[in-house]
Amino acid sequence: MKAQTAIIILVIAIIIGVGIRKYPSYLPSYVTNILEITRLKNRFSSTQTTFDYDLIIVGSGLAGLTSAFEANKLFNGQKKILVLEKMPKFGGNSAKATSGINMLDTPLQAKEGVKDSFDLFYKDTMKSGKNLSQPKLVSTVVNDSHYLFDFFTKEIGSDISKLGLLGGHSVPRTHRPTKATIGYHLVDTVHKKIKDIKSIKIIYNATVCELLTNEKKTKITGIKYYLNENSKNVLTLSTKGVILASGGFGHDFDSEDSLLKEFVPDKMKFPTTNGKQTQGIGVKIARKIGIGLTDMTQVQIHPTGFVNLNDRYQKNKILAPELLRGVGGILINQKGQRFCNELGTRDYVSQKIIENCEMAKSNTITQYESFMLINQKAIDVYGGKVDFYIQKGYLRKYENFKVFAEKMNISKYYDNLIQTLKEYNESADNKKDKFGKKVFPQKFDLNDYIYAGIITPSIHYCMGGVTMNSNAQLIKTDGKVMNGLFGAGEVTGGVHGGNRLGGNSLMECGVYGRRAARSAVEYINTFDS
Ligand SMILES: Cc1cc2nc3c(=O)[nH]c(=O)nc-3n(C[C@H](O)[C@H](O)[C@H](O)COP(=O)(O)OP(=O)(O)OC[C@H]3O[C@@H](n4cnc5c(N)ncnc54)[C@H](O)[C@@H]3O)c2cc1C
Repeated sequence: MKAQTAIIILVIAIIIGVGIRKYPSYLPSYVTNILEITRLKNRFSSTQTTFDYDLIIVGSGLAGLTSAFEANKLFNGQKKILVLEKMPKFGGNSAKATSGINMLDTPLQAKEGVKDSFDLFYKDTMKSGKNLSQPKLVSTVVNDSHYLFDFFTKEIGSDISKLGLLGGHSVPRTHRPTKATIGYHLVDTVHKKIKDIKSIKIIYNATVCELLTNEKKTKITGIKYYLNENSKNVLTLSTKGVILASGGFGHDFDSEDSLLKEFVPDKMKFPTTNGKQTQGIGVKIARKIGIGLTDMTQVQIHPTGFVNLNDRYQKNKILAPELLRGVGGILINQKGQRFCNELGTRDYVSQKIIENCEMAKSNTITQYESFMLINQKAIDVYGGKVDFYIQKGYLRKYENFKVFAEKMNISKYYDNLIQTLKEYNESADNKKDKFGKKVFPQKFDLNDYIYAGIITPSIHYCMGGVTMNSNAQLIKTDGKVMNGLFGAGEVTGGVHGGNRLGGNSLMECGVYGRRAARSAVEYINTFDS
């Protein structure tokens, strides 16, 4: 009955062409979405002197959704916010995140007796970023990360109840939910908070293709976008402010103005863990209006793109969670040897794989392959949830190491493999090995069954992006702020320098998503005074 009423109202609204702005609250969101698009389509033929929206947010990943929530809160729901999302659903790459989100000095850390500090976290981040990261951006994100725990658990209602240690961190500070995966859980809970708020509209399948400024290029005046069903019909919206939260360019292989081709041509044949929407449009449109770019050549290669054993040379890889190594997974090459500290930083482990492992025999893809071995004890600590990887062909269970070696065509090096495992067990007893590993979560029983998969270094994250200051204002190539333009998340550069620490990206989305909202609200409120 409800659906019928909704359809009748929709038809009437379209027929009379009314630009309904305050939709009845009982209408489902897909109906108000269509009504809003209709209203906007109708509006473009008329002239308009007032602003269409107070704030437009480009992208609905964690950075975009967080900034929408925060801005609406600070506006007391009194201003019009529009989120434009190119895909049919919210989430972007944020929804893919599985390892966790870093936060400083949380109740969870206190409960588990973890002694963390601003200095330690700051140093870990700078060290991982090879001192390329901008100190002010890092100190801000580390400091503000402390407030994210209350923000997500109390204001948003997210479940953040587990703590883990990722590579490159001195202490456990990576938080995640008990049951769900972190990235989807965060975007889903933020989305649930905002989806019924009438002052926030989200339009899907809408690609922002241009940022508009005044003649002097000192301030933002609007945006252009198109609905994907008709990309030739470019629509214009005026606005007081824009938050760019459009993510990175880790899947920008094929576009004419490919950023990967321009900045890291040597990575063009690598696989990627990023979704196909990750094409850097935000970076490109900001660059066109004179916004500076920072660290664009810094593209992170993640060591553990998971190779699907049923479809080995797929360009798109899912990620083998870092935690699998955190709970005791080890890496070996085709000669049955370990070659690195599995808990080292991503760039270190990736480099070691490239130096020590064979490349797959395919002309279409640059795929250096390492075996990842993990035993049942480690899987139990992980949480026993590896069924998905087994069902989909990423992990296989072998009755012993001999069978594994045979199936993977490395029988010739079986003795090496056994020697490697014996040495590993000795290192575990001594709590150190020749690669500098000090934490050995599990030893291996040489007669037991074993799980194994293949992992390969894959494009994972763009440290570079548009130039931003610690108030999330975007900076032009002349060093001046572009008034009314803010950025948050992977679209921005400068936080992670030469290598991002695991868990620091979701943290950045939360911290700078909120900061961008605060700066935007402050700026937009000046229009009223
Ligand atoms: C497999 C995987 C696992 C990860 N795991 C972790 C982890 O555990 N912890 C961690 O901290 N980080 C992790 N990351 C990194 C992290 O998830 C992302 O870097 C981060 O979430 C990016 O968030 P964002 O909001 O900036 O961008 P995204 O989440 O990518 O969202 C950007 C959105 O903008 C939209 N968009 C793009 N261009 C336009 C346009 N022109 N118009 C309209 N919309 C547009 C996109 O469609 C997308 O929905 C992982 C990344 C991947 C790929």
